[in-house]
Amino acid sequence: MSEREEIAVVGAGLAGCLLACYLARRGYPVALYERRPDPRTGRVERGRSINLALSERGLDALRRIGLERQVMADALPMRGRMIHPVEGEPQFQSYSSGGDRAINSISRGALNNALLNAAAALPGVRVAFDHRLVGLDPANGEMTFETPQGKVSAAASVVLGADGAGSAVRGQLLGYGALTESLDFLDYGYKELTIPPLGGDFALDPGALHIWPRGTSMMIALPNPDRSFTCTLFWPTHGTASFASLGSPAAIERYFAIHYPDLIPLAPNLVDDYQHNPVGVLGTVRCTPWQVAGKVGLLGDAAHAIVPFYGQGANCAFEDVVELDRCLDECGDDWSAALPLYQRRRQANAEAIARMALANFVEMRDKVASPVFQTRKKIEHA
Ligand code: FAD
Repeated sequence: MSEREEIAVVGAGLAGCLLACYLARRGYPVALYERRPDPRTGRVERGRSINLALSERGLDALRRIGLERQVMADALPMRGRMIHPVEGEPQFQSYSSGGDRAINSISRGALNNALLNAAAALPGVRVAFDHRLVGLDPANGEMTFETPQGKVSAAASVVLGADGAGSAVRGQLLGYGALTESLDFLDYGYKELTIPPLGGDFALDPGALHIWPRGTSMMIALPNPDRSFTCTLFWPTHGTASFASLGSPAAIERYFAIHYPDLIPLAPNLVDDYQHNPVGVLGTVRCTPWQVAGKVGLLGDAAHAIVPFYGQGANCAFEDVVELDRCLDECGDDWSAALPLYQRRRQANAEAIARMALANFVEMRDKVASPVFQTRKKIEHA
């Protein structure tokens, strides 16, 4: 058995499961606490970001622990954008001049389960589902969890919050006055729709990320291994042409017929999806510091949630894990040195992608459709 003290990781999402793998590989006993039941039992939340784009930054983290091949087995490479104008044929814009570079559409659930299985299979990792962190004393690492059996306590020498944008770990540190945070929400939300397979095959080209740029709003679609596409509407939450403005099935059908005419024959459940799938919020989370006294640290969305328009939130969370692992190497597993070093190296990068992601919303919903943009792309690729 390991001589090292147990590390608590709060949140068995993408970052938390990957982190558990990296820590167990270093010989740490890891307690992975997750508020939800075991996702491998099959319950899927309706309309919640079913797939995501994984790029080289994320793949690098998986490669280092031998998971890349397994995850990529079900990936669908997207080599460019397919722009759907209101009228006329879709136009393909390659991501690279040689057409050989791609981002990969991955099922979020399958990725999470692969990481969870990998973590749970490692010696020293124990996973506690139905454990919602509700209390944390940063001075001694004492945690309180709500479980179906009532409140339980636990303690760890180091507590790492990988519990997402609404992080309870961050909230606890805030309550102790140990950090400051800012939350910037967009006046936009997102809603998912489905394009099912057509005649047993993909209804659109699965080798592209599809974009319907509509000036102040847009829709995108990514392919899934079952040959469906998941569409995501990024629309204003209020005002005209917003989620709130389409109140009846007739209004929904009319609006899509005018603005997304090529979607109508491909999305037979459009009205049902639209009426029943939730509207998710979009925002940027910033906080500082990301660690307290080398005993509590934040990773992934818990430290730096960003808007999804660069497809880099999960990739960035995976990079955090790799960097923390590197810092532990360089600091001889002295957490009081490694956690501040990790923050110094990652915080500026997280801020950069947060800004780029906001800027890319304007590019995706507006500029990709402009003739000037397309001419510039041709010149870049010439
Ligand atoms: P999460 O995935 O949110 O995981 C947090 C985990 O902590 C969850 O399992 C949660 O149940 C658990 N938890 C929360 N609170 C508690 C608590 N109190 N106690 C115990 N457990 C708790 N990123 C990309 O790289 N590419 C994309 O294409 C992409 N597309 C996106 C599209 C949309 C619409 C959205 C909203 C996001 C997208 N992202 C994308 C971003 C990506 O989803 C996040 O960056 C990523 O999920 C962050 O991982 P995480 O592990 O930090 O947080």
